Amino acid sequence: MPDPLPDPLGQAALAPITVEQHLAQILDAVEPLEPCQVPLLDALGLVVAAEVRSELDLPSFDNSAMDGYAVRYADVVTATAESPVHLPVLETIGAGSERSVVVEPGTAAKVMTGAPVPPGADVVVPYEWTDAGAEQVRVDRAPEPGQHVRPAGEDVARGDLLIEAGTELTARHLGLLAAVGRPTVGVRPRPRVVIISTGSELRDPGQPLAPDSIYDANSYLLAAAARDLGAQPYRVGLVPDEPEAFLASLRDQLGRADAVVTSGGVSMGDFDIVKAALRELGVWFGPVAMQPGKPQGFGLLEAAGGARVPIFCLPGNPVSSYLSFQLFVAPALRKMMGLPVADEARVTARLTHAVTSPPARRQFLRAAYDPETGSVSPVGGPGSHLVGYLAEADALIVVPEDATELAAGASVEVIPLEQHR
Ligand code: AMP
Ligand code: MG
Repeated sequence: MPDPLPDPLGQAALAPITVEQHLAQILDAVEPLEPCQVPLLDALGLVVAAEVRSELDLPSFDNSAMDGYAVRYADVVTATAESPVHLPVLETIGAGSERSVVVEPGTAAKVMTGAPVPPGADVVVPYEWTDAGAEQVRVDRAPEPGQHVRPAGEDVARGDLLIEAGTELTARHLGLLAAVGRPTVGVRPRPRVVIISTGSELRDPGQPLAPDSIYDANSYLLAAAARDLGAQPYRVGLVPDEPEAFLASLRDQLGRADAVVTSGGVSMGDFDIVKAALRELGVWFGPVAMQPGKPQGFGLLEAAGGARVPIFCLPGNPVSSYLSFQLFVAPALRKMMGLPVADEARVTARLTHAVTSPPARRQFLRAAYDPETGSVSPVGGPGSHLVGYLAEADALIVVPEDATELAAGASVEVIPLEQHR
């Protein structure tokens, strides 16, 4: 039977493609999401779609930087402890107070921090330099001209550029947007990532474990990794190795997905139903020259309304799934969010132990990286089921395709994981 698979890279169906080729076909196919307005607190870590300018001056009115007395500089310029100046206090003005007086020559108004400095006054004398009087105040010391007055527009002027397009929003940006009165900001939204674990052997944590069943680690691993990136994951209940059940679940979810990630069912086994079901829908499946994570699938599925939703079909072993997510799904989600595709800070480190690797495949070994000594040690073996060692590791050692062994002391490329960020 002829192979119905599209073969976008023009390779024979079973010739492995490189990690770079697979990533390139994914990145060619995904696009940044359309921007939308979101409430400030939902925008942390998201990317601003268009530059934001201020419609306000900040401060928006002259206000006091101290609790004290708003006065005219000319009235207090001679004040000393030996020869103080006495002024009548017209009014007390708190922050948020609407009352306003005019400070005529020879008068004062008591002002609190953040309160408007009334017309006529051009300087604030702090309490500490006065007798803190209520009806009348004694000023013992002369301020500098303009001292303790925060002038309108000192910080931000109306029309100023606040945030450039492409900026990843931090708490400080959100504080500024709130300060200029904006309740929302236009950003590329969080990709909604539907995560489906397939496998008739899987059970949900918290449920009893039948003989020969295992707990579903991947949907939690992948959902957490997606959230860590800033995406919005949706964990879908477990799907057994039945094509109809899988396709029904997929159809159900497609409407709310910007991306779908499946785990399991993509290798050569009799029950690898993800591959069987999705090949017919034009999803590419093939080997990638890496270990773990050799069998991969990727394609675009048509959702109702014509949207084309990227689907990533990852192998089921937890280490393979996690690694595939970091290498292929994470860059795609970052592109969808308008972020630079590569987030990985790769470093070079010295191997503490010799390692071996299969030929013609790039190997990613779990490792512990010590930035202080610049050394890296393998953690556990290469087995892709070793989820305990995966959790213990904080880095990945990259062994190139052309290396089958690396001696202790060799320089290797290392991808630090979350702990080092
Ligand atoms: P598969 O890719 O479906 O052939 O699965 C490969 C191996 O990973 C098998 O030993 C599965 O039992 C295991 N596996 C598949 N899915 C999961 C999952 N969600 N959580 C933990 N292990 C899994
Ligand atoms: Mg399976």
